[in-house]
Amino acid sequence: HAAWPASDGISYDELKQILHDTPSPERAREWSQYYTAGPHLTGKNRSQAEWTAQKWEEFGLKSSIVSYDVYLNYPVDHRLALLKDGEVEFEASLEEDVLDEDPTSGLEDRVPTFHGYSASGNVTAPYVYCNYGTYEDYEGLQKAGVELKGKIALIKYGGIFRGLKLKRASELGMVGGVIYSDPGDDGEITEENGYKTYPDGPARNPSSVQRGSVEYLSVAPGDPTTIGYPSLPGAPRQSTDGKIPDIPSIPISYAEALPLLKALNGHGPNASSFPSSWHTGGLAYKEVHYNIGPTPDSITLNLMNEQEYVTTPLWNVIGIVNGSIPDEVIVIGNHRDAWIAGGAGDPNSGSAALMEVIRSFGVALDAGWKPLRTIVFASWDGEEYGLLGSTEWVEEYLPWLSEATVAYINVDVGARGPNFQTSAAPVLNKLIEATTAEIQSPNQTTPNQTVRDLWSGRISTMGSGSDFTAFQDFAGISCIDVGFGAGPKDPVYHYHSNYDSFHWMETYGDPGWLYHVTIAKIIAILAAKLVEAPVIGFSAGEYAQGLEKYLDSIKTKAQTLTDPGAGEGVSNDTFQPLEKAITAFQTTASSFDNQAAQLTALLHSPKSPQRPAARTDLYNSAREINTKYKLLERQFLYAPGLDSRTWFKHVVFAPGLWTGYAGATFPGIVEGLEEGNRTAVGKWVDIIGGRVEGARGLLRG
Ligand code: GLU
Ligand code: CA
Ligand code: ZN
Ligand code: ZN
Repeated sequence: HAAWPASDGISYDELKQILHDTPSPERAREWSQYYTAGPHLTGKNRSQAEWTAQKWEEFGLKSSIVSYDVYLNYPVDHRLALLKDGEVEFEASLEEDVLDEDPTSGLEDRVPTFHGYSASGNVTAPYVYCNYGTYEDYEGLQKAGVELKGKIALIKYGGIFRGLKLKRASELGMVGGVIYSDPGDDGEITEENGYKTYPDGPARNPSSVQRGSVEYLSVAPGDPTTIGYPSLPGAPRQSTDGKIPDIPSIPISYAEALPLLKALNGHGPNASSFPSSWHTGGLAYKEVHYNIGPTPDSITLNLMNEQEYVTTPLWNVIGIVNGSIPDEVIVIGNHRDAWIAGGAGDPNSGSAALMEVIRSFGVALDAGWKPLRTIVFASWDGEEYGLLGSTEWVEEYLPWLSEATVAYINVDVGARGPNFQTSAAPVLNKLIEATTAEIQSPNQTTPNQTVRDLWSGRISTMGSGSDFTAFQDFAGISCIDVGFGAGPKDPVYHYHSNYDSFHWMETYGDPGWLYHVTIAKIIAILAAKLVEAPVIGFSAGEYAQGLEKYLDSIKTKAQTLTDPGAGEGVSNDTFQPLEKAITAFQTTASSFDNQAAQLTALLHSPKSPQRPAARTDLYNSAREINTKYKLLERQFLYAPGLDSRTWFKHVVFAPGLWTGYAGATFPGIVEGLEEGNRTAVGKWVDIIGGRVEGARGLLRG
């Protein structure tokens, strides 16, 4: 245990000082400029993978490129036209404006507007305005008697993952989808409120289009032809049925949605009889009345979408800093691929920050730092299509990851505004609170205020939508996702648009690059805590509290959701076995945390025994506690997986079946309740209760 704690390298305080002092705005800007200079779509960014690996080597990592052969689409051709009596009334350009101020918006080889995993097709049909296209929105349309079968869905972005908007449309017999960005979802910074539009001001450029994947990600992420195993050469390939849409779709701007929405005026019910989000969209001031349609047979859309599907390599970059304990590993990852040439926010603000994290650890290594635990860094490819690079990697290295991984730290959009945001497995709550309290905010309107001072303190549960998903939901590894987001008064972020560019970032998003630097420090300091603390700073008690909270919300849900057959709610008695298990787990978890805290205090106390034999005993005790903390999250895995989507193995957290991004807690129970299936509810109460008991057994054993 020569290096524990840091006896022959630099001290822990010296390490932290280096991690605080090294990240610089100039370097973050330089990395951002490199990554955002040209297109780097999934499977088309090999030079960036090689460059990244080489930089990491220069900073002192052992780096390699790990490739998978994934099935995906590239755009070939598309058309969207509004037809009246067979005549073209409006032909959409399906292009974002080229702006002189923003050089990457006009590159020759810029990426067309399209959806990842969309179906090819050519349909002409009347259309229906479907609001956000949530499950409930379609239910509202059905209740109002709006004919959906054979129609094209005109849907707003927002609320849920875009692929699920199309999944439900397809299930209801709709034949295509057009999804647009409504400025009503941009907060206060809109053209309607008098703000100038990008590049002249902070409001959304009216021609901006959100690209994005329409894979059915709540069914399974990753390569849709190899669910559950890695896309290595020669791997058997599954059918994509039920995993990606079977109807064509196209993303459009609000400028081009306008004529379509106006042509609905006077047709079908008015959205004023629907919940408010249907008619409070941001285009009423442009003479949109928000009628629902369908349009009569004389008013149709022609939607043509041609995609080329290929199986093609992608490239993850994996870099390692070896610690003295080989089987306690922290993984830190960010994706590199972007939908567009830029990607200054998504994902390359995270990539620039990750570069600064690694450069900082490199400075520490040069100064003699001997890490206690191992750090694995990842630059993922293929995130945008459906978390491809990270999912295939987790599927390939599952045995080793299960045995050795303590935590996964994800950064996707590292900076696009001033608001710190995080979602985390509960064991990590205390660590992120402590970390953010040690780091100064770039906002110093009150001197010395920290990130913690300005953060709401809200920690979301793990849903999906970024590369932590396979770690958390498939491998049962405790995860945290961090980044700085934007609020309703901040410049509008042009998500998945050509205007998520270096120019936008430097002008509006993070002009001084200080939020890039700050997210780098947060990741580095959090990692340092996880890597160097003799006793890992997890909190089992936070997990127990979380479980209690999730159960309370289930009970509330159970009372409102009634069994359609019997017409009565599911009573609280149903949940008693789970409640008992959680209560018992709470007691065990807090005494386990106390034990850990006592050992930490003893290890740091000047009075702690220094005789080698006594030291060895203390280290052995720490090792035992750390192994339990490491394996705690794994106890919540259930090998057969969730009923409707067996790739998802975690019984506490999953992406919502019909939300995608937002997390569901106790998904098995929730889905049983939603289907009015008492048997399923009872089954999941037992399964989860068993896993909670297992977790208690681990901590007691
Ligand atoms: N982050 C990407 C998106 O939201 C990909 C999410 C996914 O496919 O899981 O579009
Ligand atoms: Ca796979
Ligand atoms: Zn991203
Ligand atoms: Zn993205």
